Amino acid sequence: MMSSMFFFMNHVMSAFYVAVATFFTAVDISHKPEWLYKKKIQKVDVTWNDLKTMAPTVVLVGFLNCTVVSYLTQLYFTHMGLHMEIPSWLKLAQDFLLFAIFYDTIFFFWHLFSHQPSVYGWIHKKHHEFKSPQAFEGLYFTLIDFYAGNFGPLILIGPLVTGHFYSIFTFTCLGAVSISLAHCGYDARPIHDPRIHDIHHEY
Ligand SMILES: [Zn+2]
Ligand SMILES: [Zn+2]
Repeated sequence: MMSSMFFFMNHVMSAFYVAVATFFTAVDISHKPEWLYKKKIQKVDVTWNDLKTMAPTVVLVGFLNCTVVSYLTQLYFTHMGLHMEIPSWLKLAQDFLLFAIFYDTIFFFWHLFSHQPSVYGWIHKKHHEFKSPQAFEGLYFTLIDFYAGNFGPLILIGPLVTGHFYSIFTFTCLGAVSISLAHCGYDARPIHDPRIHDIHHEY
């Protein structure tokens, strides 16, 4: 029971990601609802061709996450002795703070590294292909970029900062939603402010 929860964490996280990304892609394509479409940061339309370009990577990453990566996650979480006790709100907040500090630090340095001219072309350029971000682009990376800098740390850090599976489960799902919102191309304030990341994709 416990280890199957470990195995299926990535599936739940993926479902959150796909739900949010599909919603914003539908707004991109249909221009509805109008009030939300008006909040699009760059008036660049998402085309079916963009989606076709991203699809193979998105499907591959989704497939790997829900099979091999889920299996490795299960082994890792079991080895680290995660338990199913429900954390108090205070414990959840503490875990979240530690997790965010470690994740943001690793992501910051990985991202800095990936923009170095000697590696940028084969590691990170792909993620900057679309100058105006779109929701599924949060999965549009080279595999090394995605696993070393983005998804890997999301899985690896949790058990290093807490023994509570439910803490980790909560922030990985929040993380998936946040990555999706960061790329959605819409000004989703106050929930999320993607403007900074939007500007970053210009370069
Ligand atoms: Zn970048
Ligand atoms: Zn990005």
